[in-house]
Amino acid sequence: MAKDNEVVGPKLWMWRKKRTEPWHITGGYSQPDHKQTLCGRRNIDATDVVYDPRDIVPYKGMTDMKNYCKNCLNMMVYEAMSEQILFSQIKVPGGGTFGETVLTKYLKRKSPPIELNNPPALKDANSAKAGDVAGSPAPKKYKLMTKSQLEKKEREKSSRKPKTPRSKKPKSQRSKQQKIDKGDATTTTPEVVKVDKTKSAAQIIGPKRVLGNSSTDSQDQS
Ligand SMILES: [Zn+2]
Repeated sequence: MAKDNEVVGPKLWMWRKKRTEPWHITGGYSQPDHKQTLCGRRNIDATDVVYDPRDIVPYKGMTDMKNYCKNCLNMMVYEAMSEQILFSQIKVPGGGTFGETVLTKYLKRKSPPIELNNPPALKDANSAKAGDVAGSPAPKKYKLMTKSQLEKKEREKSSRKPKTPRSKKPKSQRSKQQKIDKGDATTTTPEVVKVDKTKSAAQIIGPKRVLGNSSTDSQDQS
Protein backbone atom coordinates (compact mmCIF):
# COMPACT_ATOMS: atom_id res chain seq x y z
CA MET A 1 0.00 0.00 0.00
CA ALA A 2 1.42 3.35 -0.99
CA LYS A 3 2.00 6.11 1.50
CA ASP A 4 -0.26 9.13 1.16
CA ASN A 5 2.22 11.25 3.01
CA GLU A 6 5.72 10.17 3.98
CA VAL A 7 6.00 12.52 6.95
CA VAL A 8 2.68 12.21 8.76
CA GLY A 9 0.38 9.23 8.60
CA PRO A 10 -1.95 6.90 10.51
CA LYS A 11 -0.92 5.74 13.93
CA LEU A 12 0.91 2.51 14.63
CA TRP A 13 0.09 0.25 17.60
CA MET A 14 1.99 -2.48 19.43
CA TRP A 15 0.53 -5.92 19.96
CA ARG A 16 1.61 -9.33 21.27
CA LYS A 17 -0.33 -12.40 22.26
CA LYS A 18 1.90 -13.49 25.13
CA ARG A 19 4.27 -11.62 27.40
CA THR A 20 7.13 -13.83 26.26
CA GLU A 21 6.92 -13.05 22.56
CA PRO A 22 8.36 -10.03 20.78
CA TRP A 23 6.15 -7.06 20.04
CA HIS A 24 4.42 -6.94 16.69
CA ILE A 25 3.17 -3.77 15.07
CA THR A 26 -0.22 -3.02 13.55
CA GLY A 27 -2.15 -0.06 12.20
CA GLY A 28 -0.59 2.58 9.97
CA TYR A 29 -1.03 2.49 6.21
CA SER A 30 -0.57 -1.27 5.98
CA GLN A 31 -3.08 -2.53 8.56
CA PRO A 32 -5.63 0.23 9.10
CA ASP A 33 -8.25 -2.26 10.32
CA HIS A 34 -5.87 -3.77 12.94
CA LYS A 35 -6.90 -7.29 11.89
CA GLN A 36 -3.32 -8.39 11.28
CA THR A 37 0.20 -7.47 12.26
CA LEU A 38 2.36 -5.55 9.76
CA CYS A 39 4.25 -8.76 9.08
CA GLY A 40 0.94 -10.37 8.10
CA ARG A 41 1.76 -13.51 10.09
CA ARG A 42 -0.57 -13.00 13.04
CA ASN A 43 -4.27 -12.26 13.33
CA ILE A 44 -5.48 -9.79 15.91
CA ASP A 45 -8.91 -10.04 17.54
CA ALA A 46 -11.01 -6.93 17.82
CA THR A 47 -11.00 -7.39 21.61
CA ASP A 48 -7.20 -7.72 21.87
CA VAL A 49 -5.40 -4.88 23.60
CA VAL A 50 -2.98 -2.82 21.49
CA TYR A 51 -0.49 -0.40 23.02
CA ASP A 52 0.78 3.02 22.02
CA PRO A 53 4.40 2.68 20.84
CA ARG A 54 5.16 5.89 22.74
CA ASP A 55 4.72 3.94 25.98
CA ILE A 56 6.65 0.88 24.84
CA VAL A 57 9.56 1.59 22.52
CA PRO A 58 11.65 4.72 23.27
CA TYR A 59 12.79 3.64 26.74
CA LYS A 60 15.81 2.13 28.47
CA GLY A 61 15.96 -1.60 27.96
CA MET A 62 13.70 -1.43 24.93
CA THR A 63 16.29 -0.49 22.31
CA ASP A 64 17.28 -4.10 21.65
CA MET A 65 15.90 -5.49 18.43
CA LYS A 66 15.10 -8.82 20.09
CA ASN A 67 12.10 -7.12 21.74
CA TYR A 68 10.41 -6.74 18.36
CA CYS A 69 9.23 -8.80 15.42
CA LYS A 70 11.86 -8.17 12.74
CA ASN A 71 9.38 -8.66 9.95
CA CYS A 72 7.11 -5.99 11.41
CA LEU A 73 10.09 -3.63 11.70
CA ASN A 74 10.97 -4.30 8.07
CA MET A 75 7.45 -3.45 7.00
CA MET A 76 7.68 -0.12 8.75
CA VAL A 77 9.52 1.42 5.81
CA TYR A 78 6.07 1.75 4.28
CA GLU A 79 4.84 3.81 7.22
CA ALA A 80 5.01 7.55 7.89
CA MET A 81 8.08 9.13 9.48
CA SER A 82 5.96 10.48 12.34
CA GLU A 83 5.39 6.87 13.39
CA GLN A 84 8.84 5.54 12.54
CA ILE A 85 10.55 8.17 14.66
CA LEU A 86 9.23 6.44 17.80
CA PHE A 87 11.25 3.36 16.83
CA SER A 88 14.39 5.32 15.96
CA GLN A 89 16.42 4.20 19.01
CA ILE A 90 16.17 0.49 18.25
CA LYS A 91 19.64 -0.91 17.54
CA VAL A 92 20.06 -2.71 14.25
CA PRO A 93 22.49 -5.56 13.47
CA GLY A 94 25.84 -4.31 12.23
CA GLY A 95 25.74 -1.18 14.40
CA GLY A 96 23.71 1.98 14.33
CA THR A 97 20.05 2.52 15.00
CA PHE A 98 16.85 2.27 13.04
CA GLY A 99 16.78 6.07 12.97
CA GLU A 100 20.29 6.32 11.54
CA THR A 101 19.93 3.63 8.92
CA VAL A 102 16.34 4.06 7.81
CA LEU A 103 15.02 7.47 8.80
CA THR A 104 18.04 9.47 7.72
CA LYS A 105 17.74 7.90 4.28
CA TYR A 106 14.44 9.69 3.86
CA LEU A 107 15.74 12.93 5.26
CA LYS A 108 18.80 12.95 2.99
CA ARG A 109 16.91 11.91 -0.10
CA LYS A 110 16.93 14.50 -2.87
CA SER A 111 14.98 12.60 -5.47
CA PRO A 112 12.23 11.75 -5.67
CA PRO A 113 11.15 14.50 -3.27
CA ILE A 114 9.48 13.50 -0.01
CA GLU A 115 5.89 12.70 -0.89
CA LEU A 116 3.29 15.02 0.66
CA ASN A 117 -0.43 15.18 0.06
CA ASN A 118 -2.93 18.04 0.32
CA PRO A 119 -3.61 19.27 3.85
CA PRO A 120 -7.05 18.71 5.35
CA ALA A 121 -9.39 21.70 5.61
CA LEU A 122 -8.77 23.45 8.92
CA LYS A 123 -12.30 22.58 10.06
CA ASP A 124 -11.29 18.92 9.75
CA ALA A 125 -7.85 19.33 11.36
CA ASN A 126 -7.30 17.89 14.80
CA SER A 127 -7.69 20.91 17.08
CA ALA A 128 -8.18 22.01 20.68
CA LYS A 129 -8.41 25.10 22.86
CA ALA A 130 -4.90 26.09 23.94
CA GLY A 131 -5.80 26.14 27.63
CA ASP A 132 -7.47 22.74 27.47
CA VAL A 133 -4.33 21.05 26.18
CA ALA A 134 -1.79 23.06 28.21
CA GLY A 135 0.50 21.27 30.65
CA SER A 136 2.10 22.65 33.77
CA PRO A 137 4.61 25.44 33.13
CA ALA A 138 8.29 24.55 32.90
CA PRO A 139 10.54 25.79 35.70
CA LYS A 140 11.80 29.17 34.51
CA LYS A 141 15.43 28.69 35.40
CA TYR A 142 15.97 25.46 33.48
CA LYS A 143 13.74 26.01 30.49
CA LEU A 144 14.82 24.22 27.32
CA MET A 145 17.45 22.05 29.01
CA THR A 146 17.80 18.32 28.74
CA LYS A 147 18.04 16.38 31.99
CA SER A 148 21.74 15.70 31.43
CA GLN A 149 22.41 19.41 30.84
CA LEU A 150 20.57 20.23 34.04
CA GLU A 151 22.55 17.61 35.98
CA LYS A 152 25.80 19.00 34.60
CA LYS A 153 24.84 22.49 35.68
CA GLU A 154 23.94 21.31 39.17
CA ARG A 155 27.22 19.40 39.44
CA GLU A 156 29.14 22.55 38.51
CA LYS A 157 27.13 24.49 41.07
CA SER A 158 27.91 22.04 43.87
CA SER A 159 31.61 21.98 42.96
CA ARG A 160 31.67 25.77 43.27
CA LYS A 161 30.08 25.68 46.73
CA PRO A 162 33.22 24.96 48.82
CA LYS A 163 34.82 28.14 47.50
CA THR A 164 32.18 30.51 48.82
CA PRO A 165 32.41 29.52 52.51
CA ARG A 166 36.18 30.01 52.36
CA SER A 167 35.80 33.55 51.15
CA LYS A 168 33.08 34.17 53.70
CA LYS A 169 35.07 32.88 56.68
CA PRO A 170 37.77 35.55 56.67
CA LYS A 171 35.07 38.19 56.34
CA SER A 172 33.19 36.92 59.37
CA GLN A 173 36.44 36.77 61.33
CA ARG A 174 37.19 40.31 60.34
CA SER A 175 33.74 41.49 61.31
CA LYS A 176 34.08 39.72 64.65
CA GLN A 177 37.36 41.50 65.30
CA GLN A 178 35.77 44.79 64.35
CA LYS A 179 32.86 44.10 66.63
CA ILE A 180 35.20 43.50 69.53
CA ASP A 181 36.97 46.79 68.81
CA LYS A 182 33.63 48.59 68.50
CA GLY A 183 32.47 47.05 71.74
CA ASP A 184 35.44 48.55 73.51
CA ALA A 185 34.81 51.87 71.81
CA THR A 186 31.08 51.97 72.57
CA THR A 187 31.71 51.41 76.26
CA THR A 188 33.84 54.53 76.28
CA THR A 189 31.76 56.64 73.86
CA PRO A 190 28.84 57.42 76.19
CA GLU A 191 31.31 59.24 78.40
CA VAL A 192 32.70 61.17 75.42
CA VAL A 193 29.21 62.18 74.25
CA LYS A 194 28.26 63.32 77.71
CA VAL A 195 31.35 65.47 78.00
CA ASP A 196 31.20 67.02 74.53
CA LYS A 197 27.53 67.75 73.90
CA THR A 198 28.35 70.91 71.95
CA LYS A 199 30.42 69.04 69.39
CA SER A 200 29.00 68.28 65.89
CA ALA A 201 28.46 64.72 64.70
CA ALA A 202 31.63 64.84 62.62
CA GLN A 203 33.64 65.96 65.58
CA ILE A 204 32.23 63.17 67.73
CA ILE A 205 32.88 60.56 65.04
CA GLY A 206 36.45 61.79 64.69
CA PRO A 207 37.56 60.94 68.22
CA LYS A 208 35.63 57.66 68.04
CA ARG A 209 37.84 56.46 65.27
CA VAL A 210 40.93 57.34 67.21
CA LEU A 211 39.61 55.47 70.20
CA GLY A 212 38.63 52.51 68.07
CA ASN A 213 41.97 52.17 66.37
CA SER A 214 44.04 51.87 69.53
CA SER A 215 42.92 51.30 73.05
CA THR A 216 46.22 52.68 74.35
CA ASP A 217 45.31 56.18 73.07
CA SER A 218 42.06 56.20 75.03
CA GLN A 219 43.93 55.12 78.10
CA ASP A 220 46.37 57.97 77.57
CA GLN A 221 43.53 60.48 77.18
CA SER A 222 41.79 59.35 80.32
ZN1 LIG B 1 5.27 -9.20 13.22
